[in-house]
Amino acid sequence: MRFARPKTSPAPAGQRRLRATLGRAVPLLSVASGLAGVSALAIAMPSGALFLPTLAFGGTVAAALLVDRRIGRRRALPSHGAGLTDEQARAFLVDLEETGRNWFWETDRLGRIAYISQTLAGQLGLASRTLIGRPFVELLAQSEPGTADEGRHTLSFHFAARSAFSEIAVQAAAPGEERWWSISGQPMVTPLGQFLGFRGSGADLTEIRRSHAEITRLAQFDSLTGLANRAQMLATLEQALAGQRGAPGDCALFLLDLDRFKEVNDTMGHPAGDALLRQVAQRLLRLVGSTGKVGRLGGDEFQIVLPGPREPGALAALAGAIIERISQPYSIDGSQVVIGVSIGIAIAPQDGANSETLIRNADLALYAAKGDGRGVFRSYAPAMHAEAEDRRQLEADLRETIGKGGLHLEYQPVVCATTERITGFESLVRWHHPARGPISPAIFVPIAEEAGLIGAIGEWVLRTACRDAVAWPEDIRVAVNVSPVQFANPGLPALVMSALANAGLSATRLELEITENVFLAGGADTDGMFAALKSIGARLVLDDFGTGYSALGYLKTAPFDKIKIDQSFVRGAAINGSRNAAIVKSIVSLAEALGMDTTAEGAETLEELALIRSLGCSHVQGYVYGRPADKAQTIALLEDGAGRAAAVPPRADREPREILLRAVILNHAGNDYPAHIRNLSRHGAMIEGLIEVPPGTTFRIDLGADQIVSGMCRWSHGDRMGVEFERAVETEHLRRFMEREAREAGQTSAAVLHEELRRVS
Ligand code: C2E
Ligand code: MG
Ligand code: MG
Repeated sequence: MRFARPKTSPAPAGQRRLRATLGRAVPLLSVASGLAGVSALAIAMPSGALFLPTLAFGGTVAAALLVDRRIGRRRALPSHGAGLTDEQARAFLVDLEETGRNWFWETDRLGRIAYISQTLAGQLGLASRTLIGRPFVELLAQSEPGTADEGRHTLSFHFAARSAFSEIAVQAAAPGEERWWSISGQPMVTPLGQFLGFRGSGADLTEIRRSHAEITRLAQFDSLTGLANRAQMLATLEQALAGQRGAPGDCALFLLDLDRFKEVNDTMGHPAGDALLRQVAQRLLRLVGSTGKVGRLGGDEFQIVLPGPREPGALAALAGAIIERISQPYSIDGSQVVIGVSIGIAIAPQDGANSETLIRNADLALYAAKGDGRGVFRSYAPAMHAEAEDRRQLEADLRETIGKGGLHLEYQPVVCATTERITGFESLVRWHHPARGPISPAIFVPIAEEAGLIGAIGEWVLRTACRDAVAWPEDIRVAVNVSPVQFANPGLPALVMSALANAGLSATRLELEITENVFLAGGADTDGMFAALKSIGARLVLDDFGTGYSALGYLKTAPFDKIKIDQSFVRGAAINGSRNAAIVKSIVSLAEALGMDTTAEGAETLEELALIRSLGCSHVQGYVYGRPADKAQTIALLEDGAGRAAAVPPRADREPREILLRAVILNHAGNDYPAHIRNLSRHGAMIEGLIEVPPGTTFRIDLGADQIVSGMCRWSHGDRMGVEFERAVETEHLRRFMEREAREAGQTSAAVLHEELRRVS
């Protein structure tokens, strides 16, 4: 709101003349629209007040047009030099009133309407004469109980104080639609100081307010889903964190990331992706209700702010309900679509008292949830910072290693299940870290993918594997793993041709192993890439089958020569009651129907081998036939066995395990489970306490001594399971820690060991 100019403003000569004329003839001359415009007329009030009204018809040009139109319609009015005649002034004002955008009013000393433009009365659905004598404030809408009505309040104040006012926005008592006016007014006072009433002008603000409201809506809401956008969510979070009397407020923050959303977008198109996001938004709104605010940050990222103190149990229940609900099928364009969601949770004030810290920590928790296999929620823990730092360090080390040529390859035999002939080797990249020892590619390949290093690693692997394979007999193939990131690079076929040509290897001896994730990575013309690689003559292998998103449709069209059945199905298949055998069997029949070979990955025991054979897998790759070995050992293996491999009983060469008894907490999907470690090596542990855990389940395990590892259940039997760690652990450091811990508890490590042995025997 702007106030009118002071009454003492000196008026220039032209305006003074105008005042002299209009002051008598036209009672209503305070024209203010509240809109951007130019001063088109300078009008004085009879009391001597002067202000420059702004007219709402686009400036001088519009004003000139108005005069032109008028001249065209009526006889041109004589002009008197620099000033306006009474008649001209009247004509302008009549025209102005007729536009309906500006209007005039006058009240008596008691605030009752003495004059009102007919156009305005029309807006209220009345004739102007019926309004005469009614209180001016009756023109205004009654405010809703409990809502602030600043405009009406300010207007009443000025009426009571008999002071001038300008451009006060008020809501009109118009029937039906919501209508807004900007009102300006001046008190009319006789030369003797007697108050006569008010006189002023008004302008219609409705359209402007609508477009302002639309701009505000666009600035605060996500146009696709109608949810709050990032800016509004930040404001909400900051409000929730503001607390009272200097103490930070309690609240919980959920960060959500949809799993497999890209797949829907890429395979079904963006309109389907948009429809899915809208349905997700609706489900979230229904679940969260009035307990918090749901927003979309962009892409497939959502956020929920839950103000006030929250019980961790209630938060876990809500997160679990969200995961369950979001994972229910969606119907889009007549197709059923299934996606998942990962959630990171941070709670204020303990996980962060300001928005920046809380968001960063919820993000770390989300990252951990995704790392735990997606479809789970994780609450922030301070150790996550250490993990993130660890990852950054590994990335830097990996960059350095690549620069120095510090990676090497190992080869694991792939054996024909019926003849035991070695049909090929899979190349597996290896990194021996100078301080940490060997680091699994399952750890550093994803880091390389995220850090943009996989292109360089992949090219080196491909060229090296092709060169090494030339030394093998002609009927032995080499398999190379191709990351989805490489697969999305249109330069891949050219690279494959170059590697083959440089090594002098026949294309038919090269197998490219691709995981189901290539169908999720998007961006690439997947069919075109398959066709290009096939046209070179290389074989295509679908790796880790059954672990991806398992929409089997692609199998019909993608020209795979072989399916590798993931180890999680092979492992434990021989154990009674396991459903893995049935799954393997159906994968084999599917592959046979499509004319594809099958390789069962990860067979470790003779029992697993026998079962795989009986289920009809054409090939086997696993420790039972040999671990990955270097180039020289590979050639020796081929020579010693004359191209055949011999199955060896399991675990003969397993790395030494320390027997110990240690209480640990396993965390899965946000739930903690107490358990005991029975024995431990750098790469895995036997854990007791959870019954019939499905192989493939991942856990976070706090081993103590600041060692938190992720591990995957490889097998389970009764209440015992074998867990493979995602990264090697420092057993020596852990042992020393446990000794100290035991000493502090008044026990020696020997006593711990003794107790364990007693229990085992
Ligand atoms: P993958 O391609 O499925 O490779 C098979 C993995 O299973 C290898 O793990 C292999 O050592 C392991 N394995 C084979 N037989 C057995 C068994 O009987 N028992 C057990 N417990 N494991 C067995 P590795 O070498 O740690 O590689 C893990 C993953 O890293 C690979 O899975 C592959 O996805 C990725 N990877 C390895 N090398 C490369 C590479 O050069 N490029 C890319 N992009 N990824 C690679
Ligand atoms: Mg592979
Ligand atoms: Mg595999």
